[in-house]
Amino acid sequence: MLSYRHSFHAGNHADILKHLTLYLVAGYLTRKDKPLVYVDTHAGAGMYQLNQKHSQQNKEYLTGIQKLYDAENLPPMISDFVALIRSVSDQHEHLYPGSPMIAQAMLTAGQRMMLHELHPTDLHQLKQLMEGDRRIRVLGTDGYQGLISIVPPKERRALVLIDPPYEIKRDYDLVCSTLEKACKRFGSGVYLLWYPIVDRQRIDALHGKITRMGVPGLYAELSIEADQSGYGMTGSGMIVLNPPYVLEQQLQTLLPWLASTLAGTSGSYQLKAF
Ligand code: SAM
Repeated sequence: MLSYRHSFHAGNHADILKHLTLYLVAGYLTRKDKPLVYVDTHAGAGMYQLNQKHSQQNKEYLTGIQKLYDAENLPPMISDFVALIRSVSDQHEHLYPGSPMIAQAMLTAGQRMMLHELHPTDLHQLKQLMEGDRRIRVLGTDGYQGLISIVPPKERRALVLIDPPYEIKRDYDLVCSTLEKACKRFGSGVYLLWYPIVDRQRIDALHGKITRMGVPGLYAELSIEADQSGYGMTGSGMIVLNPPYVLEQQLQTLLPWLASTLAGTSGSYQLKAF
């Protein structure tokens, strides 16, 4: 039984780190109209209404996208990212797009997408949103297995986003075993993995397992509070395997600005290549 609904969290600080990273990486990989498959293992509903009950419960978007809408003098890459969010949302600030809509807006005509979502309500909405776009397949099946069945893709180029809810602790093991299998079959894919900062020991274990795989990568973390092991999410991280060579420098420029814009003096970031 799936209880997680992304609509409670859409547009929060964690979405900003995840979607900005996706935007930067997809921007690099879609510069040329070369074949590419985008795989979203945990796609969500695709679009969220920030003025509706779920979002209004904790108003998490106030820690994320709203701060970017309110900020002045945005660095150019953030300003471009916000412009994309606005255009995908038809300029409505009460709408916030999920990862499938962001990727859809960036992919070229010759590139395709495979989206996996298990929750029936979110799946239904996602199918409606993506209807008519022949580049896209929406599947109501398990995203971990879906990824393994797709790699190596016929295009020989893939951008993969793994964004589980971590509502079952097994997700921590599953993301590692799935990445390991996927990299064995297709070592040159670009893999993005999101994780919450809740328990630092768990993150250290996750980093250890992933770095031992021997695939080059980096991780970026953005926190709005100091770690409080076990007492709620204080930030989040992205692991990128086979990152575009420009990504580390881009994040080095943007993370300090984001940390201070989203969280003032409580904000912090980490960026490390491995
Ligand atoms: N990636 C989305 C975005 O950035 O907009 C948000 C995804 S949300 C964090 C995680 C989603 O994964 C939920 O909608 C949940 O229903 C779905 N889910 C959970 N387990 C899954 C699985 N094994 N395969 C596919 N989807 C799953």
